[in-house]
Amino acid sequence: MDRSRLKIRPIIGLEIHVQLATKSKLFCSCPVEFGAEPNSNVCPVCLGMPGVLPVMNRQAFEFSVRTAVALHCEIAAFTKWDRKSYYYPDLPKNYQISQYDLPLSFDGAFDVPAGVGGGTRRVGIIRAHLEEDAGKNLHEHPGITRVDLNRTGTPLLEIVTEPDLSSADEAYNFCVELQRLVTYLGVSEGNMQKGQMRFEPNVNVAIEHDGQEYRTPISEVKNLNSFRAVRGAIAHEIERQVNDWMADRDYVIGKRPKENRGWDDVRGITEFQRSKEEAHDYRYFPDPDLVPVEISDECLERIRASVGELPLEREARMQADYGLSQADAATILRDRATVDLFEEAAGFGHAPTLGKQFISFWLAQANARGCRIAQLGIDAGRLGELSRITADGVINATAAQAVAEKMLDSGDSPTAIAERDGLVQVRDQGAMAGWVTQAFEANAKAVQDALANPKKKAQARGFLLGQVMKISGGQADPKMVGRLIDEKLSGLGGS
Ligand code: ZN
Ligand code: MN
Repeated sequence: MDRSRLKIRPIIGLEIHVQLATKSKLFCSCPVEFGAEPNSNVCPVCLGMPGVLPVMNRQAFEFSVRTAVALHCEIAAFTKWDRKSYYYPDLPKNYQISQYDLPLSFDGAFDVPAGVGGGTRRVGIIRAHLEEDAGKNLHEHPGITRVDLNRTGTPLLEIVTEPDLSSADEAYNFCVELQRLVTYLGVSEGNMQKGQMRFEPNVNVAIEHDGQEYRTPISEVKNLNSFRAVRGAIAHEIERQVNDWMADRDYVIGKRPKENRGWDDVRGITEFQRSKEEAHDYRYFPDPDLVPVEISDECLERIRASVGELPLEREARMQADYGLSQADAATILRDRATVDLFEEAAGFGHAPTLGKQFISFWLAQANARGCRIAQLGIDAGRLGELSRITADGVINATAAQAVAEKMLDSGDSPTAIAERDGLVQVRDQGAMAGWVTQAFEANAKAVQDALANPKKKAQARGFLLGQVMKISGGQADPKMVGRLIDEKLSGLGGS
């Protein structure tokens, strides 16, 4: 069969588990902590002892609702808990507490950057519900499996999308944008290395051939824990399914079952695991130990108010309002307190200069301290003022850096620091003309080169400018000095 005669349309949905940033587990008070001594953060509730009673973590529920609101979901006024049968050693209760027929939210939409050609793509959200995580089986030695139950009972928000994505790149963008959303909202650290976001793409392909459409069976790729794996696994699945259909025309929905597949990161391929179980195999039933949750209008309004503008919208507005590049806006948006601080400071300051100072100086300082810009302890007023006096030429860029460093240790205003340290630029014509004359007299060779040797002119001019700055102790306004040097050179007969 001629592959080029096929019209191929990938159909991709995602199921994502996001670990919520609560201090304690979903139904007990055990701490949620990464890398703790195995089985140290456990209690009778998360160990599944008989007779214990789970109590819902209110923070986990509010984080879930906040995310669901940001995903434009309907929020259920009444939601309940169900037991989902799960017979593996990493969840000793033999069931997972989840939500089945009455999830806390449903029918949403999320806009993400489109794959090719820019713009955004709207992806439908089927539902988002809260459930508990399982522990970890550790297969460290041949023939021996140990179980660490520290993770058991950690709150997870499960988000299920409509199959609205049409390429591996779009799915990748969705995952990146979702990570940005949950960290921005403060509901998750979104740390991939710690397994705090796990992705399961559902993939199949519509193939058009001789006016007929064929659809390959859906496969679900389990437990991907990096964006790169999401993109790689989907790209591989699309190719594999088209090839399998070309080899076997019965490789279509209805004639072949759904498949669970695993991703081999090293070989870059997906592998068959098992035919997918149907929902009834889980034998869901309502958890008799947990009361249903009813959310009041008042509580919902409070959570709605905490969501505000979403990162993608805010990024576009910041480009328009402050003349920032997309990359710089995205960098500042990496945490919400910092972008709030930026916007407040921009009100006092010169936004494009402030943007440059955030991206270069302030970010470097924050990184060096392992914190965010908003945690450097410098208020919006002083940040704005520094950008303003830099943009106005009161201090030059080098002096701005020196002032900024002092601002980290003192509460003084940048203007006061600049004045005290003699960093205010001298823009007095007389003083500057004097320094230029001094530099010309002390560097006759460079003056000669600038006048007589066109090849060396730019270099000689730069050298003279440097000398003037040196004589001035860094206080001269380099733009004005440059102008004075040019005037003097042309006065001496250069061009
Ligand atoms: Zn516990
Ligand atoms: Mn789940």
